Amino acid sequence: MAALLELLLTKVNLKRRKVLQDSICDICKLKEETTAHVLWNCEIARETWACTKASTPVGVSDGWTFQDILWHMIILDQVEEARVAMVVTVAWVLWCNRNVTRTGGKKKSGREMAHWAATYLAEYTTATELPGPPTPTEVLRSLWEPPPGNWYKVNVDGALLIEHKSAGVSVIIKDSEGRVEAALSKRLEVSLGALEAEAKAFETGLLFAKDIGVREIILEGDSMIMYRALSGLSNPPLSGNHS
Ligand SMILES: [Zn+2]
Repeated sequence: MAALLELLLTKVNLKRRKVLQDSICDICKLKEETTAHVLWNCEIARETWACTKASTPVGVSDGWTFQDILWHMIILDQVEEARVAMVVTVAWVLWCNRNVTRTGGKKKSGREMAHWAATYLAEYTTATELPGPPTPTEVLRSLWEPPPGNWYKVNVDGALLIEHKSAGVSVIIKDSEGRVEAALSKRLEVSLGALEAEAKAFETGLLFAKDIGVREIILEGDSMIMYRALSGLSNPPLSGNHS
């Protein structure tokens, strides 16, 4: 995730690449949009962190990289692993919200994002720690549901390919009839953790939807679905649809 977040196409990075003229944050319209600004110092980020139980380093300046922040937490403050996971998840949720806002979507409140991050992390932890059979309710919840009306559903999945020391991400975009609008899958030749691969999958899904001009989207992670599919309890929703 650290590497991933350093590659974030913040407006400062886009301006540096001469893609954009201005680098002012679209959310607060006050400061330059650096990584630390989006994830820590912007008003919406502060509001979100205040709604979480995550302990974050104090005095993060807008020039800090995500690696600086992690280094402070892990090395200096000796923050335990579970809390680091929470911080990484909240950071990823903030980045997703920033992307949704920039593509004209409805931005979430700090409280909503804190809730989203906590729910995601709880589901992830359950999926990786408790391989027992799911309840019927859980199986039902993992079935694909079509998006409403003119919306599209973007299902993403990140998987670790341990034997290849790499990760794979796949994205499939379907309309409200369940028709496949577009799909992609690709391998990333980098060693990622499970959560990082999942985060990369979400990022890939958002960028892919933007590339093909789909704006009204519901983004959904398939980690639970994939987990159930691998357990032989439901059909994998992505099978046969990889491009
Ligand atoms: Zn801002």
